[in-house]
Amino acid sequence: MIPSNRLRIVLAASEAVPWFKTGGLADVATALARALDADGHDVTMILPDYVSVRNEAADPLPDVTDTGVRFTLDMNGNAIGGSVRRTALQDSKVKVLLVAQDHYFSRPQLYMENGEGYADNCERYCFFSRAVMEICNQMVLRPDILHCNDWQTSLIPALLNTQFADKPGFENTASVVTIHNMAFQGQFWHLDMALTGIEERYFSMHHMAHNGQLNLLKAGIAMADQITTVSPTYAAEICSTEGGCGLDALLRHRESNLTGILNGIDQSVWNPETDRHLDTHYTAASPQPGKASCKEALQKRMELPIRKDVPLFGMVSRISDQKGFDLLAEATDRILSQDLQIVFLGTGDPGYEAELKSIASEYSSRVGLVIGFNDRLAHQIEAGSDAFLMPSRFEPCGLNQMYSLRYGTVPVVRRVGGLTDSVVDVNHETLADQSATGFVFNDYKSSQLAETIERTVATYRQPLVWEQIVRAGMAIDWSWNRSAQRYVEVYRKASESRHKRAKDGRR
Ligand code: ADP
Repeated sequence: MIPSNRLRIVLAASEAVPWFKTGGLADVATALARALDADGHDVTMILPDYVSVRNEAADPLPDVTDTGVRFTLDMNGNAIGGSVRRTALQDSKVKVLLVAQDHYFSRPQLYMENGEGYADNCERYCFFSRAVMEICNQMVLRPDILHCNDWQTSLIPALLNTQFADKPGFENTASVVTIHNMAFQGQFWHLDMALTGIEERYFSMHHMAHNGQLNLLKAGIAMADQITTVSPTYAAEICSTEGGCGLDALLRHRESNLTGILNGIDQSVWNPETDRHLDTHYTAASPQPGKASCKEALQKRMELPIRKDVPLFGMVSRISDQKGFDLLAEATDRILSQDLQIVFLGTGDPGYEAELKSIASEYSSRVGLVIGFNDRLAHQIEAGSDAFLMPSRFEPCGLNQMYSLRYGTVPVVRRVGGLTDSVVDVNHETLADQSATGFVFNDYKSSQLAETIERTVATYRQPLVWEQIVRAGMAIDWSWNRSAQRYVEVYRKASESRHKRAKDGRR
């Protein structure tokens, strides 16, 4: 039966704000759940319970209670028990279930420590994905849609189409996989197939095997009813040899079931009028003087000279190869020969971290650096900077450029992935039709980044033009409503293909 207008959606993710976050997936999971809930759908989020990380979250969080649900999974011959806790998402009817298994999930970090992924990540997320199916079964959730995110939950469509294909309660369940980043595929040695709980015959190049290894993202792409990714441009890029990270042929094969949907932003959290991390607020109608005092507070916080006239660039990012740190390192002297300031907040690759530290100590009057994860400071950088740097090598969607636009902070980005879909380059034409919102460069070259920063500084020196760009960016509506509608369309398509599959007796 094709479901009625109100869909029962189970959203499985390996991180979600406000509980646990390493990147954009955490923001997207919660914001999408909220938007679907507001649209009248029945939404259950299922997340791992990273107890120690949750306990350290700065916000007061709603109570966590035990549901009494218990299950045991055979993980390659070992009986591993788990339980289910319940919490709530403030100001919504979204149900939140946490998979508790302390050995797997009560660790200092989510996926890695000191730059090294946990050695048992395959086992941890196979357990989590299988737990999601157990929970749907035992708690009789009868989902219309199982919405999975990235490799950590991409085993779920494979479980649905095999072990759970004929289980009561799953007759109407279709699956959707969202790819937030193709670079992370969850590829592990072939013997880990035993952890998936799926018959060995699915270890084939058409399902779960890739170059002789188990590839969990591939399992999801091959077996989900529908696939989405987080921007239209990235959807096209991942179907090319260059952007497909080895899975482009499969993605081309499934192209008619692949949709690019640009993320929205959670405007209740990212809003300069109400942001609880800011001492001074401002609106799109009159950004000043509020924004100027956020700039002063940021300069103070980062121990930089307090100057109104100097352009202040911000960057908040995972410190990794993806984000353009090599370009910044190559062009440091040229960039910092100008009268500007840059503040960095990030954590990640120890090599780039060391490089940033040495730049910050050499240019201490121009560069402020905080190594670490700090949500409050991330908001203060968005508000207090004049411009925001995202010179990414690739960028599936990117959230920070949208936060920047909302905060009147002009993004400086490379033309790639979701950055292409969300920032309009400043030029004569776009200034004339008032569509210009940022500075965009094409090639992944340090010289292009440096030139673009120079162009940004020169434009900053023309206050009227700068103000026009700021206002055009702040006027854009990035709310989730529109994106959530697109997801609902994809869910409907997934239900249709699920029923067609059932009729044809295919898996
Ligand atoms: P990605 O998901 O590739 O890391 P996005 O731009 O989509 O990149 O999302 C990154 C999210 O993580 C943003 O909300 C950003 O503010 C946040 N973030 C990244 N690094 C940090 C950090 N060190 N401290 C606080 N927030 C961070």
